[in-house]
Formats: sequence, C-alpha cells, structure tokens
Amino acid sequence: MTEDAVAAIERGLAELGDAYRDAFATASNEISLRDEYAKVLGKKQGSLTRVMGLMRDVPADRRPEAGAKVNAFKDQVERTFEQRLADLHRASRDAELHARPYDLTLPGRLPVGRGHLHPVLQTRDDLLTIFRDLGFEVVEGPEVELEENNFTKLAFPPDHPATDMQDTFWVGVDGAPKDARVLLRTHTSNTQVRVMSTRTPPMAVVSAGPVYRRDDDITHSPMFHQIEGFLVDEQVSMADLKGVLAAFAEGLYGPGTPVRFRPSYFPFVEPGAEVDIGCVFCSEAAGTRATCRVCKTTGWVEVLGCGMIHPDVLRHCGIDPERYRGYAFGFGIERIAMLRYGIPSIKHLFENDPRFLAQF
Ligand SMILES: [Zn+2]
Repeated sequence: MTEDAVAAIERGLAELGDAYRDAFATASNEISLRDEYAKVLGKKQGSLTRVMGLMRDVPADRRPEAGAKVNAFKDQVERTFEQRLADLHRASRDAELHARPYDLTLPGRLPVGRGHLHPVLQTRDDLLTIFRDLGFEVVEGPEVELEENNFTKLAFPPDHPATDMQDTFWVGVDGAPKDARVLLRTHTSNTQVRVMSTRTPPMAVVSAGPVYRRDDDITHSPMFHQIEGFLVDEQVSMADLKGVLAAFAEGLYGPGTPVRFRPSYFPFVEPGAEVDIGCVFCSEAAGTRATCRVCKTTGWVEVLGCGMIHPDVLRHCGIDPERYRGYAFGFGIERIAMLRYGIPSIKHLFENDPRFLAQF
C-alpha cells in the first residue's frame, strides 16, 4: 500500500508529462491561459492537484523524496505559466502601442452634460455685479456669529421676537467668549456691523451669503441667501438710497423699471421703507395684469427692505451719528431668482433635482 502511493505519484507525474507546456503556449489570451492553468493546479479539479493529494498516503519516511518530486513538477508548471503570462502582457501592450492611435481631443459621440452655477448663485453673482458697478465693495462675513454683531449692535431690543428660540438657531461653540451667545446669523447685517466697527467712513459695502431662520414653508426655507448693502458718509440722504435702488432695479429688469417706497419699520433703520419694483411679468396695456399671479394683479412686487441707518446703530459701531449718516438695504436672493425665472416654490431651489437645475 505504501509503495503504491509513491508509485502512483510517479505514474501520475509521468502521465501529466509536458502537456501543460503546449496548452499554455497555445493559449492566446490571459483568460484562456488561466483556464489552462486551472486544469492543472485548480484547487479541486486540477490534474496535478489530484496527484498532490496522494501525498496523504505516503509514509513519513518517504515523504521528503516524494514531496521533492511533486514540488519540482509544480515549480515547473508555475514558472511556465508566469513566463507565458508575461509574454501575453507584453504582446498586448505592443499591440496597443502599434494600433491606430486614439485622438483624445475629438468630441465624444454622446453629449456630455456640462455643469453650471446653481440659479441662486447665478442670481447672487449678477446682483453683486450690479452693485459693484455702482461702486460698492464686496465683503464676506461669517455665518456663525456673536449675538452682539447679529442683534445687539443693530438695536434689536432683547425681547424682539426675532431673537426668540422659535426663530433663531442658537449654537454652543467651544472657546466662545464667556457670557457670549452664539448663533447662525439671521441676516447678512452682521457683516455691516463688523465693517462699520472696524473702519472709518466713507464706506460703501455689499455682502451676500447664506442666512438661517426657523422657517419652513412654500416661500421660506431654514437656510436662504441674502444680499445686503450699506453706505456711510457725511452727506447721505434718502434720495441717494432711492437713486441707488432705482439704478439697481434697472440693472436687474431693464431701463425704465419703476420703483416705489412704502414706509415700514425695521429696528435698525430710521426711517425705514419697503421697496416694490414694477411687475415685469404683466402689463396693464397688454391686459395681462388682471390674471398675473406674480404680483397678484397689483402691478408691484415687494422686493426689499431699506432705510437710513439708525443713529444708535452707528453709535454702537463707533461712528459719530452727529457727523455721519448712512443708508442700508437688504433682500433675499431666492426671491429675486424665483421672480426672475418664474419658480413657484422655494423648495425647488434646494432639492437639487438635475431635471430642474438643467433648465437654467
Ligand atoms: Zn404682474
């Protein structure tokens, strides 16, 4: 029995012979080469694997001898396989090098979608460009802000509803000054406060970016974008403000766009006003006004809030209100984008549906 095991191994190796060399040599690609290799050394069905399985029956004293023969055979198979694999790789690389070259600069056959800025950011950039052309400097401010810069210096009374937990995202920040309350800014006016607190007039600044409030319905989102501008100098009046906003309306909707001011109250301005711009989606002459949903048939669209900066705000920021005056205005960028493109719900702007975004 023991003699049989060794003899069976020797007979098995002799039967395998050189056949694998021919099989490997005629394999024309890596896949068929690996198939041929598996026929010899595959874990279950390999012909050599089966012979190697006979080693179990070889007595210990004859194992080194039988094992050496099996291993030598196995080494030969593996070396032959590696050699052929390397030859095939080299051949396929040569074929690639000599093949007709691809011209990678040719346009593709399928149209490739090219990205673009989100409609809110397109609108933001267009608005900033209008104000930049009017002489305003663009400044960025932080989105996580101290209560002082967001509310206190803007003369919000401590019990103003805007400061309520219901309306504002208060946050805890490691390393914040002691007793300082920190929040996600509720408007871009924090940038106005920061600039006024660190510079000397004259200054004309515009700032845009995300702001945060606890609002969520068809026209409100907890995060939206605002743009805000202000100017401080010795001789500034409501007439200057009106001129700038009229120029802005024309920059946005074209020459002759009408603007009207309605008195309103904001704690940080005195006097304050809301500004309407003539509806560009309808016309009384053309008879489209009676059915216009954008302006609800009024012919006016409410766009922004503005006013003369309250003397207390100037004082809080270290500016002498006896010498300097200023105006400020601010509005939501989403609202302008919705009016501009006729978008019915603010949610479309934040759902990131490519079918919607591809339309801009
Ligand atoms: Zn209208």
